[in-house]
Amino acid sequence: MIRDHEIAQLIQHEDRRQRRGLELIASENYVSEQVMAAAGSILTNKYAEGLPGKRYYGGCEWVDRLEQLAIDRLCTLFGAAWANVQPHSGAQANAAVMLAVLQPGDAILGFDLSHGGHLTHGSPVNFSGKLYKPHFYGVDKESGLIDWEKVALKAHEVRPKLMICGASAYSRDWNYVRLRQIADEVGAILMADISHPSGLIATGLLNHPFPHCHIVTSTTHKTLRGPRGGIIMMAKDFPNPMGVKNAKGELRNMSSLLDSGVFPGTQGGPLEHIIAAKAIAFGEALEPSYHQYTRQVKVNALALALAMTQRGYQIISGGTDNHLLLIDLRNKSCTGKAAEQALGKAHITINKNMVPFDTASPMITSGIRLGTPAITTRGLQESHMDQVADWIDRAIQGHDNDGVLKLIGQEVCALMEQLPLYVA
Ligand SMILES: *Cc1c(COP(=O)(O)O)cnc(C)c1O
Repeated sequence: MIRDHEIAQLIQHEDRRQRRGLELIASENYVSEQVMAAAGSILTNKYAEGLPGKRYYGGCEWVDRLEQLAIDRLCTLFGAAWANVQPHSGAQANAAVMLAVLQPGDAILGFDLSHGGHLTHGSPVNFSGKLYKPHFYGVDKESGLIDWEKVALKAHEVRPKLMICGASAYSRDWNYVRLRQIADEVGAILMADISHPSGLIATGLLNHPFPHCHIVTSTTHKTLRGPRGGIIMMAKDFPNPMGVKNAKGELRNMSSLLDSGVFPGTQGGPLEHIIAAKAIAFGEALEPSYHQYTRQVKVNALALALAMTQRGYQIISGGTDNHLLLIDLRNKSCTGKAAEQALGKAHITINKNMVPFDTASPMITSGIRLGTPAITTRGLQESHMDQVADWIDRAIQGHDNDGVLKLIGQEVCALMEQLPLYVA
C-alpha cells in the first residue's frame, strides 16, 4: 500500500494506461503477480555483495539459497553449466562480459545498431564503443538478411577479440554454427546476446546458441517474462584464452572472470528481490504453459506479419521467425515518429525504429517495430491479428485525423476490457 499520494496517483495512471492499451512494444511484457510480489518484497533490504556461500556481509543464509535456486533453474532452462543472475539489466550483463574478456582498445565486431543491433554492441555513444574499437556487420540491402559470408569477410578483416551476435530489431534466426566457425578462424570469443528471443530459444522455437557460443547474455524482462534484469550463462566453463592468471599463477576459468566482471567489476550489491523474482519467472518458464505461451507468441507474430503484408506494408526481410517484425513505412507517406504518435493516441503502444539503410534520423525514423509478447500474455490469439493490423493501418492512414484515432482508441479499449490484465 503506497501512502505517498503523488507517487500513488502516478502509478495509478500508469496502471490504467497498461490495462486499457494494446501493448505492441517488442521488448515489453506483463509479469505474473508472484513475480511482481517478489520484486516488491523485503529482500530489497538486504546487502549481499559476492556470490552464494562467498559473501562480504552476514545474514545471507536465506538469500544464498534463493540466489542458488535462481542459478539452478536458469541452468536447467537453457541447458547451461554456469550462470550469473546478478546483472541489473541487459546492458549491465554485456558490460560485465566485455570487462572480463577485453582490454581497452580491443576490437569488437557486432551487428550494426542502425540495422537492428543494440547500443551495447559497439555504438559510439555507449561504453562499448568508447572503450573498445567497434566494427559492424549489417543486413543485405535487397534481402534484409544477414549474409554470414560477409560476416566472415569482416571478421577476417578486423580480427575482433569478441564477436557479438543478437539484436533488438532483427526478425530472423541466427546461424550460430557458422558464427562459431568464423570466431574460431579469427581466434575470437563468441557472445550471443539473446535479450529479445530468449524465451523462444528456451522453449526450442529458435536455434539454440549453446554449445556454439562461448558466452550468452540476456535480459529477463522481454520474451522471458520476468522482472527487469540481466543474466550471463555458459554451456561449459573453460580456462580463459586471454591468459589471465590468479594469485597462484594458474590460468583463471572464464566463469571466475565473468563473476568478477559483474562484481566488483561493474556492479555493487545484487538486487536479491529481483533475483527472487527472476527465480520465479525461470520456474514459470519451465512449466508446459510457458511453452504454449511462446508458441502462441510466434503464431501471433506470423499472423500479424501476414495481415500487415496483405495491407501493403513492407516487412524487412519479408517476414519473421520470432516474436517481432520491422516495418518500412516509406511507401505509406508516414514517418516512424508520426506513426508512433498516431498509434499512441489510439491507445496502441509501439516504437518508431530505424530500418536498414534508413535516410531519416533516429528521432524521426522510417519504420516501426511491432512485437507480440505482451499481447499474447494478455490473451490475444491469431484470430485477433487481422483486427490489430486493421487498427494499425487505419491509424497510420489517418495519422493526422484525431477523430479517426479517437474512434480506433475506443475500439481498442473495448477489446482490452474483455481481456483484463491482473484480474485480482
Ligand atoms: C534490450 C536489449 C539489451 C538491454 O537491456 P536493458 O535491460 O535495457 O539494459 C541488450 N541487448 C539487446 C540485444 C537488447 O535487445
